[in-house]
Amino acid sequence: MSKERKRYILDEDQIPREWYNIQAEMPVKPLPALDPATKKPLHASDLFHLFAKELCEQEFNQTDPWIKIPEPVRDMYKFYRSTPLVRAYGLEKALGTSAHIYFKNESVSPMGSHKLNSAIPQAYYCKKEGVTNITTETGAGQWGASLAYAARLFGLEAAVYQVRVSYEQKPYRKSIMQTFGAQVTPSPSMSTRAGKDILTATPNHPGSLGTAISEAVELARTTPNCKYTLGSVLSHVSLHQTVIGLEAEKQMEMAGEYPDIVVACFGGGSNFSGIAFPFMRHNFTGERKTRFIAAEPASCPKLTRGRFIYDFGDEAGYTPLLPMFSLGHNFTPPNVHAGGLRYHGAGVIVSQLLKDGWMEAVDIEQLESFEAGLLFARTEGIIPAPESCHAIAATIREANRCKETGEEKVILFNLSGHGLIDMAAYDQYLSGSLTNFHVDDATIEKNIRQIEH
Ligand SMILES: *Cc1c(COP(=O)(O)O)cnc(C)c1O
Repeated sequence: MSKERKRYILDEDQIPREWYNIQAEMPVKPLPALDPATKKPLHASDLFHLFAKELCEQEFNQTDPWIKIPEPVRDMYKFYRSTPLVRAYGLEKALGTSAHIYFKNESVSPMGSHKLNSAIPQAYYCKKEGVTNITTETGAGQWGASLAYAARLFGLEAAVYQVRVSYEQKPYRKSIMQTFGAQVTPSPSMSTRAGKDILTATPNHPGSLGTAISEAVELARTTPNCKYTLGSVLSHVSLHQTVIGLEAEKQMEMAGEYPDIVVACFGGGSNFSGIAFPFMRHNFTGERKTRFIAAEPASCPKLTRGRFIYDFGDEAGYTPLLPMFSLGHNFTPPNVHAGGLRYHGAGVIVSQLLKDGWMEAVDIEQLESFEAGLLFARTEGIIPAPESCHAIAATIREANRCKETGEEKVILFNLSGHGLIDMAAYDQYLSGSLTNFHVDDATIEKNIRQIEH
């Protein structure tokens, strides 16, 4: 047995008391979000009708680098935080690499992913301002499950619109939401005007995030004391997720190391922001030269092949216009298993950081991601979410480079979730029926041209 330490855990009193607001310290601030009708910059108060006020303030806060985590939120973080920082000795050995690989294990949250880190404060701020009902949409169901959990613990009613195909194909996510008392409706549904219009035009509509967003937003607008919530993309979601990196910073210190490379998978950017931003602040001051790598699926390559433009945040075109790397909101990604990464754009903060060279992005094919996930499962004993497999694949690429050069680089990646409810995807990989998807340049070009006009 090795005497090397495997896991680093913080005591409860070491759980962060503040989130890190990178907007306040970015050398170049993100461009403003615009009202689609007037093309004028939006302010926090423009979103008060839809989101809890404090979340709107956080969204636009470019002055305070540290935002206090409310005590009731911190108390609920204690249910599962700190999450372990783990040295991946098994993976290192299998790769024969000289790199030191660490991962932050967000899969130990009660809902199996990092999404709870933002669901809890979002439910809290709604409760605090007298809201009784919250609503959202969910694709694969990770966000819906986290929101249902947080709503219950704060005594709120949650209504979740789940994309109909996913409602039918992933019945256990629906059961989890219902266990916590959420009302789950497959979208499109007859419960909203938007849903009725869609179903009248297309009776067998399979649903999409676009249809689910339209229904959730309509419910929030037409129900008294009801607010809408989102699980990724927005800056306040990234803010809440920084609890991951702030813990990791203390835990790396316990291990006596500092990361040369930080890696996370990338859907809308929340888990990447969460692990990366607290470390990135030391790059801004010139004190460190850490590399930050976002790993996106080759089937939805907004960071590596998208364009920096003003685009809608949602497929339906309801949100403000956001300055971001995008494939165009009309882009329909192929049906890969990493459902949480099938999003056309990147958050505004990350987009600006990528544009300014503070971070990098790589794209990973579906088969490479599962190959990496399987090796990780067999060496570290945790079955990763299909999304997280992308971070593992990018980490393995870097570790293999170290093997060639003999460098002992320290690599830290975020294990955003476990894959225990995604075994149908592993089944397909193991039976050899999964494929890669190629997105051709012409499709991307066509989508982006539609936005520019
Ligand atoms: C939702 C999800 C993602 C992608 O979302 P980000 O906002 O980019 O973090 C990644 N991993 C898991 C497990 C998820 O549930």
